[in-house]
Amino acid sequence: MREKIIAGNWKMNKLPNETIAFFEEIIPFISNSKNEIVICVPYTDLFYALLSVQGTKIKIGAQNMHWEEKGAYTGEISPQMLKAIGVEYVIIGHSERRKHFSETDENVNKKIKAAHNVGLIPILCIGETLEDNEAGKTKEILINQIKLDLKDLTNDQIESTIIAYEPIWAIGTGKTATKEYANKTIKWIREELANIYGKESADKVIIQYGGSIKPENSKELFEMPDIDGGLVGGASLKAEEFAKIVNYDK
Ligand code: PEP
Repeated sequence: MREKIIAGNWKMNKLPNETIAFFEEIIPFISNSKNEIVICVPYTDLFYALLSVQGTKIKIGAQNMHWEEKGAYTGEISPQMLKAIGVEYVIIGHSERRKHFSETDENVNKKIKAAHNVGLIPILCIGETLEDNEAGKTKEILINQIKLDLKDLTNDQIESTIIAYEPIWAIGTGKTATKEYANKTIKWIREELANIYGKESADKVIIQYGGSIKPENSKELFEMPDIDGGLVGGASLKAEEFAKIVNYDK
């Protein structure tokens, strides 16, 4: 049975003092959860977050990185830098990076491989726009993203890649996909993974849903058989709300 992984994406929010206060508040409520918990914070909060979660089961992730180890890439952070300070996860290819920072599938693929090369677990975000969805192109878009973003990964690498299915029309909009729709689409993703990597590997991949998850809808989504947890944006900023999402099964 695949475990449920519940990850928070703070995006560009919280100063170090707010980071410390968040963890002080949330740790007592989620420390005995059986679900894997990851919080992806801005670079400037990583150090404070890592110190705050020492001795707990909470893991810390970044929200992006470059694919090169080092060099003349002003303003960038390498996989090795993240690994060296104790970061374990990294979000790759979030739709906001694709939209605002021209992240291409080719670069996403380089980043996924670079993450694996240092032992970081990538959380790859894929999903369709509203326009694609209304035009009935969701499956086609997702298959294309899977082929390009995960090109030439080994079976070991694919098995330890997390995929977050995030329909773009559901991110930050308050419009959550129905549990049936999210489950069906995640099944398509797993079928495509099976076509490329074989069923045994595909069955091991954690595939999350992301898009306006809140305490009120997390239980019904996470109880679906093909949804292996979630990537939570806005609701991960409030300790009380995120704790309720993590504890959906209590
Ligand atoms: C996200 O940022 O990945 C996300 C799903 O955001 P939200 O939960 O706010 O829709």
